[in-house]
Amino acid sequence: MPTVINKHGLARHIPEPVKRAVRQACANGCVICGRMPYEYDHFDPPFEDAKDHHAVGIALLCSVHHTDRTAGRLSVDAVRKARVKPFNAGRASVWSHHLTEQSLTLNVAGNILQGPSVGLSVNGAIVFGLRAPGTVDGQWLVTGSINDSSGRETLRFRDNEVLAVNGSWDVSMEGPTITVRRGTGDIVVQVSFRTEDQVISLERLNMRLGGGHALHANRSGIQVSGPAVNFQVGGNIVIGATGCAIRLGRDSEPPKDFATLAINFAALGSPNDWRD
Ligand SMILES: [Zn+2]
Repeated sequence: MPTVINKHGLARHIPEPVKRAVRQACANGCVICGRMPYEYDHFDPPFEDAKDHHAVGIALLCSVHHTDRTAGRLSVDAVRKARVKPFNAGRASVWSHHLTEQSLTLNVAGNILQGPSVGLSVNGAIVFGLRAPGTVDGQWLVTGSINDSSGRETLRFRDNEVLAVNGSWDVSMEGPTITVRRGTGDIVVQVSFRTEDQVISLERLNMRLGGGHALHANRSGIQVSGPAVNFQVGGNIVIGATGCAIRLGRDSEPPKDFATLAINFAALGSPNDWRD
């Protein structure tokens, strides 16, 4: 059993603000190799001697480098040096998924999408989508790109990789859930990979669209708000082959190679308008 409380009475649990400070200092990945997921390593002092959880003495290490640390094959000095200039400084942190389930469902804020290629699109651009195995090693591939409310790209889905774009205020990975925030309590996007339930979910979203509009996703559903377009949708089901869609608006065509929940209003612009 791991030590829950050390000889100084310090609990193993690290308070969330300290964890966030460590993630920010370590650029959201193992300081040595950049990998997500990671563990929080008390390198100076080691946890058994620590009297407090100080962010400066904690580094993110992937399971491989954490094992090396624990075994003494990776020195405290090397971790300290790497934490000053972490591997991910100036680059995206990347998580590689491995999705080979028989079937997977995409849940976009309570809207269910099932089929070989499914997604949420706005004016023909896939914001968040899923493609069935067949193209790369029999794996489901996630696609899409999320920008925040000021037009900064924060999360990109490319093949079997999730890329948290460099410069995000905070990126956390807890259980099956990846959350990107742009400030305290200000969630840009939250996605969950609940593979045992065979569901990939877009649970939260706060994204800028064109013409002063915003795209939100939460427990109430998907909402678009702004000067020209306002609606909320939840509880829809799209099941089918590519080309089938629930269409909201008629100003553009949904992507032909996806079954989509398709939002098509010219006032919402294109990705060029959403991003700085
Ligand atoms: Zn590593």
